[in-house]
Amino acid sequence: MKILVLNAGSSSHKSCLFDLSQGAESAAPQPLWRAALDWTHQQDKVELSASGAGESIQQVLPVADKAAGLEAMVKTLVDGPTQVLESLSAIDAVGHRVVHGGREYIDSVRIDDQVKAAIQRLIPLAPAHNPANLQGIEALEGILGNVPQVAVFDTAFHARMPEAAATYPGPYAWVEQGIRRYGFHGISHQYVAQRAADMVGRNIADLKILTCHLGNGCSLAAVKGGISIDTTMGFTPLDGLMMGSRSGSVDPGILIYLMRQGYSADQLDQLLNKESGLKGLSGQSNDMRSVTEAMEQGNAQAQLAFDTFIHRLRRDMGGMIASLGGLDVVVFTAGIGENSPMVWQQACAPFEFLGLRLKEDLSRAKEDQDIANQDSRVRSLVIHTQEEWAIAQACLSLL
Ligand code: ADP
Repeated sequence: MKILVLNAGSSSHKSCLFDLSQGAESAAPQPLWRAALDWTHQQDKVELSASGAGESIQQVLPVADKAAGLEAMVKTLVDGPTQVLESLSAIDAVGHRVVHGGREYIDSVRIDDQVKAAIQRLIPLAPAHNPANLQGIEALEGILGNVPQVAVFDTAFHARMPEAAATYPGPYAWVEQGIRRYGFHGISHQYVAQRAADMVGRNIADLKILTCHLGNGCSLAAVKGGISIDTTMGFTPLDGLMMGSRSGSVDPGILIYLMRQGYSADQLDQLLNKESGLKGLSGQSNDMRSVTEAMEQGNAQAQLAFDTFIHRLRRDMGGMIASLGGLDVVVFTAGIGENSPMVWQQACAPFEFLGLRLKEDLSRAKEDQDIANQDSRVRSLVIHTQEEWAIAQACLSLL
């Protein structure tokens, strides 16, 4: 079975083609073909990169339109040096990452008009993402015709959270209006939690796992018996941990204070989503590598940014451990989580009293690895997240 996966964002798209003839596996295989579209660098032009059949191409196309970009990208499956298929009719299904599934979708679902209407209806809850997801679905319908398409939601894994964890203690009207914690990065948290169980050779039903997705966006999930019972992102992906350019949780009184000084909703949106976090505090960059470099050169603001990032990470890890009522495995994933031994060490240090001890010599590796010391009661794993592969697997099990 050949499954095309599309992760469509507001200004870039990523796509993979997997061959699942072997059936579902936990460790991700290499895709047959991989491609990306990026509109961020050049006005009204898209950068297309694709690799397949042992070849790679990179092109800049005068294409501002998302659907036309997708058409050019899909063409590299059947044409040119990266060709891996005789014809597009060899594609059996398409899986889409859809950021917000609201309360309706607690599992992946085959896309029909009703599902598209729901993704549309949820746009106010995910204004940067759901429109791009919907455009991607409609563009591929146009290109591939009646091939089954599946929506895999980033919120779904968190949809079984207990009500007390999902509820914001505002007026009860919020509960009725759906103002609640939805949580995001669910595809990644679910994949790494299952992979962690496989790596430690135990049934996920018996494990208490803390998953730390630390990329540009950062979130934690408390996974008990295979279910997400708590998470740090909330009604929007702005809640919880400090991130690349997002503040994470701040005292809501700060927003009231700033509004009374004349800040508009759009200005606060820009401030909290784009000008805060590592970027805002360090004044350098939203990239952890630049922040740690500046810190090592003695830059005080970069030091404050790093220290605050770690402080908040530890504090929220402690919260998730309390929700779990114990801890068997801690997982680090995504850009920072997969690559920063300094973050692993600093994040885990306060939990030595729980029996979590890391190895002395740690370095990043291409493979998933166990970074806990042999005598550690809690395992600590670094797992490369494989969201596209997880989406392909979700399609396979649904269809
Ligand atoms: P996204 O959330 O956009 O998918 P990624 O998961 O790619 O982002 O993570 C991006 C983050 O990972 C950036 O902050 C980047 O600095 C960080 N990162 C990547 N490589 C390293 C590294 N070697 N050391 C520390 N941080 C890293």
